[in-house]
Formats: sequence, structure tokens, C-alpha cells
Amino acid sequence: MGEVPYLTLNNGVRIPQLGFGVWQVPADEVVEPVRIALETGYRHVDTAAAYGNEEGVGQAIREAGVAREDLFVTTKLWNADHANAGEAFDVSLRKLGLDYVDLYLIHWPRPDKDQYVEAYRAMEKVLAEGRARAIGVSNFHQAHLEKLLAETEVVPAVNQIELHPGFDQAELRAFNRAHGIQTEAWSPIGQGKGLLDNPALAEIAAEVGRTPAQTVLRWHLQLGNVVFPKSVTPARIRENFEVFDFALNAAQMDAISALPGERIGANPETAFF
Ligand code: NAD
Repeated sequence: MGEVPYLTLNNGVRIPQLGFGVWQVPADEVVEPVRIALETGYRHVDTAAAYGNEEGVGQAIREAGVAREDLFVTTKLWNADHANAGEAFDVSLRKLGLDYVDLYLIHWPRPDKDQYVEAYRAMEKVLAEGRARAIGVSNFHQAHLEKLLAETEVVPAVNQIELHPGFDQAELRAFNRAHGIQTEAWSPIGQGKGLLDNPALAEIAAEVGRTPAQTVLRWHLQLGNVVFPKSVTPARIRENFEVFDFALNAAQMDAISALPGERIGANPETAFF
């Protein structure tokens, strides 16, 4: 089946390039899909305080019996907590039932509040204490990153952004790369809608003998993105992990990049929730 590749973040921490996302999975339903993902071989789970399911994620991790050092767990600081990031981190850690997380992210910049620098300074402290192995951001545009880089010490390890065919974020990916910031792609398969039904994608998928979802996930891996597709369906959880033993050629990569699409989620500049 092939092995999940690991990438090395700018502070030397290694991250499995493909993980498991749990957005919109209710707290009382999250244990089973995470259990199946870990059983399948996933070693990276992406959650957030705002998903309301950190306790269930922690329970599944404890029950799976996988050594903690073999897992990569990400959680995120919610927008209401920019002014008290240290306390919010403690709450997340307690809900997860862990001694440390592998990655802690600012979920959205909320430029209207202008408190993300303050939040990030508190996260630098969490990093220094060894309670997060890496810190970073999510949904940051170049301008938000530039302000952060100018006013804080630690270069973010990661910028997690909406990214999928039709919305490939080429400029922001280039900016991230130039600053040693790893790009993570959220909604990597476009939330399953529209994109996966595209006939041109179906043609490429048939050429490589894979499903449309596998073909798109492979496109991400070859672009160098970290991804964590979400599914609660066991067959799909397994399907999304079988993407390490085939390759797309340059023409197929370009054709996927050229697929139509647009932003699905909120624009970070105006995401005032
Ligand atoms: P996704 O692109 O992973 O799509 C998930 C949906 O696609 C599923 O609900 C299912 O309907 C469908 N699907 C999954 N596997 C499939 C398959 N093999 N074949 C056909 N359909 C399939 O979308 P997402 O959940 O929005 O993004 C993934 C993860 O990214 C989230 O769970 C979360 O961890 C993270 N995320 C982060 C942010 C952020 O602001 N930082 C925002 C959204 C998502």
C-alpha cells in the first residue's frame, strides 16, 4: 500500500504528510472514525477547540494504543480566545487528555480584532515550555503573516489554508515556502462536492486507476501540501489513505491544477465569526 511520507517542519519536527480531519464530526460520533483511521495507519489528526470534539479525539487516541511519540496531533485556538491563548491552550490539552500537542495553530487571524500577535506570543511561551512541539497559523493571508513575522520571534511552522483544485493558492503557497512555512491544505477534496464529479478529473482518475478523491489527494502530496481529508465512512477513510503507491505525471498535475473551482469557505479577511 505504500507508506505515508513525512515532511520536516522548520524547527525539525516531522509531520505525516497525510492525516485525518474531524471538522463537523460531533463529539459523540468522533471516537469511531478516529479509531478506524488509526487502525488504517493514519498517525496525524487535525482537530480544533471550535470543533467541540477534542475529548473524543483524545479518547480514541488513548484507546488505540499507538505510542504517543508516533502520533501527530494538531489543535487550534478559537477566535474568541486571542486575548487569553495560554488559558485556552490549557483547556484544549485537558480535553485531549494529552501532555503536549504536536502543533498548535491560530485558527483565523480576525484582523478586525488585531489580537493575533498577542495570541501568538502566548503560543511562543507554550512552545518554549515544550507543551506544543510546533506552533503556527491558519487562514493567514500574506499581510497577516508579514505582520506576525515582523512582530514575533518564532517563524510559524505551518499555515493551514483552504486549498484544492480550482483554488490552488499558488501565490500564498510560494510566500509560505519562501519563509520556511509549511502549507497545509484544508478542504483538500473540496468537501466532496462538485470537484469530485468533474468529468476531466474522472478521466485522469481512470488513467491512473484510482478514484477521483485519491487522484486529488495525490495531486496535493506531489505539490508538497500536508492534507487531512475528513470522512466518517470506513471505506472512504481507507480509500483516502491509499495514495502513496502511484504517481501523476506532469500533464496530469497541470490538468488537475486547471480544473474549475473557487473558494468554498470564508474569506479570512472578512471572517468575523
Ligand atoms: P474535505 O475536502 O476533506 O471533504 C470532506 C467531505 O468529502 C466528507 O464530508 C465527505 O462528504 C466527502 N468525502 C470524503 N472522502 C471521500 C471519498 N473518498 N470519496 C467521496 N467523497 C468523500 O473537507 P473538510 O472536512 O472541510 O476539510 C478537511 C479537514 O480540514 C477538516 O476536517 C478540518 O480538520 C480541516 N479544516 C480546517 C479549516 C480551518 O479553518 N483551518 C476549515 C475547514 C477544514
